[in-house]
Amino acid sequence: MSGVLVMMEQRAGAWNRMSFEALAAGQQLAAKLGMECSAAVIGKGLDALQAELAQKKLSKVTMVQHDLLEHYTSDGYVVALEQLVKQENPAYILLPHTYQVRDFAPTLATRFKQVLISDVIAIHDGPVFVRQLFQGKLNGDYKQTGAGSCFVSLQAGAFRAEAVEAGTAAVENFTPQLEPSQIRVAPGEPFREAAQTVDLSAAPVIVSVGRGIAGQENIGIIEELAAALGAELAASRPICDNGWLPMERQVGSSGQTVSPKLYLAVGISGAIQHIVGMKGSKIVIAINKDESAPIFEIADYGVVGDLFEVVPALTKAVLAAKK
Ligand SMILES: Cc1cc2nc3c(=O)[nH]c(=O)nc-3n(C[C@H](O)[C@H](O)[C@H](O)COP(=O)(O)OP(=O)(O)OC[C@H]3O[C@@H](n4cnc5c(N)ncnc54)[C@H](O)[C@@H]3O)c2cc1C
Repeated sequence: MSGVLVMMEQRAGAWNRMSFEALAAGQQLAAKLGMECSAAVIGKGLDALQAELAQKKLSKVTMVQHDLLEHYTSDGYVVALEQLVKQENPAYILLPHTYQVRDFAPTLATRFKQVLISDVIAIHDGPVFVRQLFQGKLNGDYKQTGAGSCFVSLQAGAFRAEAVEAGTAAVENFTPQLEPSQIRVAPGEPFREAAQTVDLSAAPVIVSVGRGIAGQENIGIIEELAAALGAELAASRPICDNGWLPMERQVGSSGQTVSPKLYLAVGISGAIQHIVGMKGSKIVIAINKDESAPIFEIADYGVVGDLFEVVPALTKAVLAAKK
């Protein structure tokens, strides 16, 4: 048992961008362990994707194709990938932590009497896999102790797709044994990310509000600050999930990616899924009453204080400075 196998995700011939983050993680892990890194793609009619993958630094690219894999089903993927894993026998199997992976990967791991170490944010020497607990308040270290392939999924934004190393890779085809009777589920409408009718990506100044605002009735003080600064209004996910602001104002891994000159994070803790959407901002100012909030780790300027005191005072100061 050796090597790192990265399972890439595509839908209708288009990559899920998180696949390349998983590929970067796979290359880095393999290099640390002195192992080879390979990749596999599953589906049907994947010629264009095959050509792209063949230009990455990989020992091998395996195209897992079958008519019954044209559309995603958890049954089809588990049956096909179980056969691939048995053939390849990799020490580590890395997957992007997508909605689809969440659906099938735990079953796949169970077929090998393994668990899926899911939503990993970092890989340390060992290898030790780091996962967040209690909404990011704690990090847990996980290490495989038993025998068998180790299944790991990687959180969006934890690794950088740009870090994937180029090279050349041999391409192999793998046709799994698959019968229609093995597929017991019919694919439904895929999950759609938030619609983007507001384009925050071009905004030079963004004031973003998080759960610290406590209730929809308080959003007004943030709107006043945004208006005073001539800024766009944005939010963390709970604000949009609660319907306090529309979904298209969400910043993060399942919202928009922004890179303004100034990003003011108000009452936002700084969970990794939020950070990945705004870490390209030039200057980050955070206002949070908890001095150990993770947002302060990436903030250029921080105000430790109650937003209900700080924000109105700041709005007043901005308006006064404009006079
Ligand atoms: C698959 C997946 C995708 C996700 N996608 C996204 C995404 O796209 N975007 C996103 O944002 N999140 C996303 N999340 C959720 C993410 O994990 C966090 O739960 C979320 O970002 C937390 O939002 P928050 O910081 O507003 O709330 P919290 O984590 O609850 O933080 C609130 C903060 O406000 C501070 N606070 C409270 N009261 C005050 C006060 N009076 N004054 C000052 N500070 C105060 C607190 O100290 C705390 O730090 C996703 C999660 C998953 C699992």
